Amino acid sequence: MSLQSIYKDLGISEPVLHAANPVLAHLAPRFRHIDEIAEENQLKVIGAMQKAHIGEASLIGTTGYGYDDIGREGLEASYAAYFHTEDALVRPQITCGTHALALALMSNLRPGDEMLSASGRPYDTLEEVIGIRPSRGSLAEYGISYRQADLDSDGHISFENILSELTPKTRLVEIQRSRGYLTRPTFSVSEIGEAIDFIHSRRPDVIVMVDNCYGEFTENIEPSDVGADMVVGSLIKNPGGGLSPTGGYIAGTRECVENAAVRLTSPGLGKEVGATCDLLRPMFQGFFFGPTVTASAVKGAIFAAAIYEKLGFDTFPNSSEERHDIVQAITFHRPDAMIAFCQGIQAASPIDSFVTPYPDDMPGYVSQVIMAAGAFVSGSTMELSADGPMREPYTIYYQGGLTWQHAKFGILKSVQTMLDRGILTLPA
Ligand SMILES: *Cc1c(COP(=O)(O)O)cnc(C)c1O
Repeated sequence: MSLQSIYKDLGISEPVLHAANPVLAHLAPRFRHIDEIAEENQLKVIGAMQKAHIGEASLIGTTGYGYDDIGREGLEASYAAYFHTEDALVRPQITCGTHALALALMSNLRPGDEMLSASGRPYDTLEEVIGIRPSRGSLAEYGISYRQADLDSDGHISFENILSELTPKTRLVEIQRSRGYLTRPTFSVSEIGEAIDFIHSRRPDVIVMVDNCYGEFTENIEPSDVGADMVVGSLIKNPGGGLSPTGGYIAGTRECVENAAVRLTSPGLGKEVGATCDLLRPMFQGFFFGPTVTASAVKGAIFAAAIYEKLGFDTFPNSSEERHDIVQAITFHRPDAMIAFCQGIQAASPIDSFVTPYPDDMPGYVSQVIMAAGAFVSGSTMELSADGPMREPYTIYYQGGLTWQHAKFGILKSVQTMLDRGILTLPA
């Protein structure tokens, strides 16, 4: 059976494959570069697990209090070794990225302290954590104030703005690596490093924390390699490798991690407790797969950008820009295109392919939202997924894909769906 006939059985027509082939040929050198980064990171992860002396017994978890959990200690030592930090907290009890970030902030700030965001407006869910939008339990409720250094007009970190927002009360500076769902560039680790050097040269005493969500393994260094005191992220994204069913991590200085541990569990208990049940094996295995899964997602993002550019749509970042996260924005300027895109992605999923996504109201959002995801881990945006608010300019945010082959199929299916509905025409 030829590849073409398998694609045909799955609903991808010859003209769509034909349009994709030259795009793919053109991307070959980019993909080789991504494979090189994956190779470096794969070796770093293996090296980290070897350094942490992970044995078969480390894969077996604990119940109850989780005392003497050698697997949990090994997992945390592996993360610390990979990120080159003194220590790490990696737990299934950290429920998601927002929780990991909230924990890192709430445990390292005290009443009277001030937090500064050096990368402009933070990720949506952090607004309630900080208290930018008044919320029960926010940092603001505990007397922790907030300032924000806006980005410069090109969307990059502004040293000038940081300098004018640093106050004697500033205790922690947060930098968000990924653009999240804003239209600003994602910062490279080297840009983050320059900002950290600048902040520490003015104020060596402040903690610099990086929201590393979506960024892990996309480059061959991490923000902790360029001076970050703490890097924070979700195991439902890159470092979970699609296998970890839950969890979050905080890697950083011994003091920052200890502060987070006593807040997650309890003063006096810290890292000593926390059962891992049956979760260590997928958490380790997901970490092991993280570099190649991330590479697959990055290839999908670049392919999506390249083919939709060829079809006449605006992409962000564009297909030739360097990548520092896995998110791809495509602007359609028409709602039917956004809906067709999502329905195509959904139809390409191994799970829930028979479900049709439609725009709907969502708590916390002003406009209706459409989402496509057929995932093994519920809600995982490390898996092939797309979402966006139904309003001008009708931009879809596409990300993930546990394998490059699945990402490619999903993107072809989205193109096919639009073609079938007369939303686009293929170039001659
Ligand atoms: C996803 C994400 C978060 C929040 O993580 P959740 O797991 O969705 O709570 C925070 N910051 C950035 C940049 C993200 O991409």
